[in-house]
This record gives sequence, C-alpha cells and structure tokens, in this order.
Amino acid sequence: VRAILFDMDGVLYNSETPIEGAAEVMRWVREQRIPHLFVTNTSSRGRRQLKEKLNRFGIAAEENDILTPALATAGWLREQTSGPVALFVKPAARSEFDGLTILPDQAEAGARYVVIGDLQEAWDFRTLNRAFRLLHSDREAVLLALGMTRYWQASDGLRLDVAPFVAALEHATGRQAMVFGKPGAPFFHAAASRMGVPASQILMIGDDIETDVAGAQRAGLKGALVRTGKFRPADLECGVTPDVVLESIRSLPEWWSQAQ
Ligand SMILES: [Mg+2]
Repeated sequence: VRAILFDMDGVLYNSETPIEGAAEVMRWVREQRIPHLFVTNTSSRGRRQLKEKLNRFGIAAEENDILTPALATAGWLREQTSGPVALFVKPAARSEFDGLTILPDQAEAGARYVVIGDLQEAWDFRTLNRAFRLLHSDREAVLLALGMTRYWQASDGLRLDVAPFVAALEHATGRQAMVFGKPGAPFFHAAASRMGVPASQILMIGDDIETDVAGAQRAGLKGALVRTGKFRPADLECGVTPDVVLESIRSLPEWWSQAQ
C-alpha cells in the first residue's frame, strides 16, 4: 500500500478526547509524504469544524483533506436536474448544500430528494415521520443517506448513527436509499481518485469493522481495524477479516515499515 484513508472518530479521537499518539503519527505520515485523506461519515459537523477539531488536537489538515458524505451528496445533487431538497441534517452541515433549492423545514410534501444525516438528539417521532411523509407523498422522491454507520462511541456510551433511521424509512416506504459515504464503494472510489492512487494500493484505517473495513475491502481497498473507539473483541467474529488489526493508530508506523 502507498496511500492511507483515515477514519476520524474512534481512530484519531474519541468524541472530544484525542487518542494517544494520533498527532505524532499524523506528523510521521506527513514527513513520509504518504498520500492521505480523512474520510468520515460525520454529518453533525461541517468540514470547517472538523478541520478545526483536528487542528485543536495538533493534527495538520485543510478542509480539502476531508471527505464527508455531505460534500459527496451535494456534489451529486448539483449534477441532477434541479428539484427541491429536504434536509434532515444538523445546521453545521447545511452550508455544503448552498445553491440548491432547499424545502422549508416544516414542509410535508414537495421534495424531490430527502437527505438523511446524523440529527442525534434532534430526532423525534414528528421529524422522522415528516421524512416519511415527504417520501410517501411522491413516488419519485429519492432517499439519500449521509453514510450508513449504525452506531458510534460517544463519551457517554454507544449512540445510534444515521443507518437505523434510514433503515426505518426504507422499511416504511419500501424504497432503498442511495448511500453517499462509507460503506458505499463510490465514496471510497471518490477518495482514491482525489489522491490519484489505485484502490488496491490504499489502506483504509477505521474502528468500524463493517462500515470502514468491510466497505473498503468490497471497494477493492485494504482494510485496517484499530482496537480503539467503538471496537469490541466480538467484532472480529462477525465474518469480516481485516487485512491488519492495529492496537491503535500509534502502531501504524511500525506496521508500515515492516510491510514495505
Ligand atoms: Mg469511526
């Protein structure tokens, strides 16, 4: 492998706490001039906030080094024939959708596209039901998912991510979501083409055995699992075999020099 994709939450930090050694390892990555990108399914924050968070933890990064589902979704929407978009995303992620026709927040009909992101505590029955009504009222309305992460490690324990809410809407409408983000192959391929490196020469490092590791492997990349973040030992018995398992991001330089 000669390039690396870094998942952020669970690999470089746990929620608001940096993972030991992450800043040093990212300095090493830059010194070695290893092509890399940060790929995250986080849709509760915009790229500017994500960049600021990395910088706060001593990790050098620009907004352009970060690939998010919101960026990928908005890019795709701009290529479509226009139609009103209903956004179920946190305010911080809305700016990626600037320039598109956005439906008012209370509308229950009239959407051509329904975008589901990580609303966290803002999810309630009324909000989820509004997304359902928007989809149900128009046969042609397209359900778009900002990643299909099932859960993540928050400071108070595991928390539901985007996928369970998308699954509820898929179940209720009988429609399948288009997934922009991990574990969708197009997202990994977009990252590969941004770096100009073939998929087979890229290592994806993440703490989610399904979204990060299995998703990357299905897209032709190598998948590394870290034993930090949401990792639990039982993850290694679910039928997915990572190309490498690292104690933490800290073990990367040693593994890398042995693997070359
Ligand atoms: Mg993660």
